[in-house]
Amino acid sequence: MAILPIVTVPDPLLKKISEPVKKVDDKLRAFMDDMLETMYDAPGIGLAAVQVGKLWRILVIDIARDEENPKPMYFVNPEITWTSEELNTYNEGCLSIPEQYAEIERPAECKIKFIDYNGEEQEIHATGLLATCVQHEIDHLNGIVFIDYLSKIKRSMYVRKVKKLVKENE
Ligand code: ZN
Repeated sequence: MAILPIVTVPDPLLKKISEPVKKVDDKLRAFMDDMLETMYDAPGIGLAAVQVGKLWRILVIDIARDEENPKPMYFVNPEITWTSEELNTYNEGCLSIPEQYAEIERPAECKIKFIDYNGEEQEIHATGLLATCVQHEIDHLNGIVFIDYLSKIKRSMYVRKVKKLVKENE
């Protein structure tokens, strides 16, 4: 396994639409393992392939708390098939927008159809943090980051802060 470099805003790659994956094979599983390791190392609770430079519709998520056992989830070609009318607000962060957070409102629950690590089709009903996290990550596959929901002024302030942070860490 390997830790991959994470792309940060304002990299134009983060605006691109990711392509569906044709086949889940050992090579892809090895990449998904690298994504998971990269996410744990960051640390974060979700990562989309575009964030490590691949325009493939793949997400890894683990929302287990520190004291719990890891519960990695892999989503290939995820599709939201239903969202609740009820909304929920979370203070969201993103590995591509390090150390910045904002309150974002999204449907509180959703259903997601996807292909799992073994190439099997699955559908889950997500609630709570998982629902928020899956929607945040699927946004990445469509070229959207959470600061796109904020005003233009706030967005450019966040981008400026990230640029400064990245420069300091170089
Ligand atoms: Zn993100």
